Amino acid sequence: MNNRLRNFNYLIGCEKTKQAIALDPLDGEAMVALAAQQGWQIKLIINTHEHHDHIEGNPAVQAATGAEIWASEFARGKIPNMSRGLMANEEIELGTLKFRVLPTPGHTPVHVCLLTLSEDTPVLFSGDTLFNASAGNCFNGGDVDEMYDTFVRELAPLPDETLLFPGHDYMKTNLDFAFSCEPLNEKIGYWKAQVGDLSSDEMPYMTLGQERQYNPFLRLKSPYLLAQLQGDNERETFKALRAQRDTW
Ligand SMILES: [Zn+2]
Repeated sequence: MNNRLRNFNYLIGCEKTKQAIALDPLDGEAMVALAAQQGWQIKLIINTHEHHDHIEGNPAVQAATGAEIWASEFARGKIPNMSRGLMANEEIELGTLKFRVLPTPGHTPVHVCLLTLSEDTPVLFSGDTLFNASAGNCFNGGDVDEMYDTFVRELAPLPDETLLFPGHDYMKTNLDFAFSCEPLNEKIGYWKAQVGDLSSDEMPYMTLGQERQYNPFLRLKSPYLLAQLQGDNERETFKALRAQRDTW
């Protein structure tokens, strides 16, 4: 579900028990309505992090459903009405749904991503950590060194077939940025053409394998990038990229 800030809100339902998770609700009423339309009961609200555009719908969803609010243990005091603090690598279940909580600080210190363990193809709900063709920013309470560590520790080991469900639809702009970093990368031009005319609701879900072909933050070994950024090592290249994206 998309909305005014180009946020993706996710309603994740268990087909068997008809229980659902509202992930990062912004428009709470719309999410409650969508759940009703699907015949699902929202049992849990989970927030990837504390920014207002990822928690603003919590009160409306909670008022309508009584669902508990879960987020990182470190988000206590930052997200109102949180009842359960999630720990790094904890596994959470609802019906047949099963997730691992990935500790992914960087965009903010308390950020977590959810990785499905119950699906044949793993799905990463990446919040504002990894976007199509970019990484989340670090200028609103974040830390770019932590973000780099998160990419190395949590994202690099994930298999290519992992589906990416990010927190915002910024793909077109990010591809333009990626193109400016690596103009000779044919995959960037290809995907720019593929998504150029699509609306937010029509954007494709990409895999991490595809992201690794065009997302500069996942391509720190690319000779084109290295030549342009003159980073001495991958951390410095990552930080130089993030700084460029901030002012791009
Ligand atoms: Zn954010």
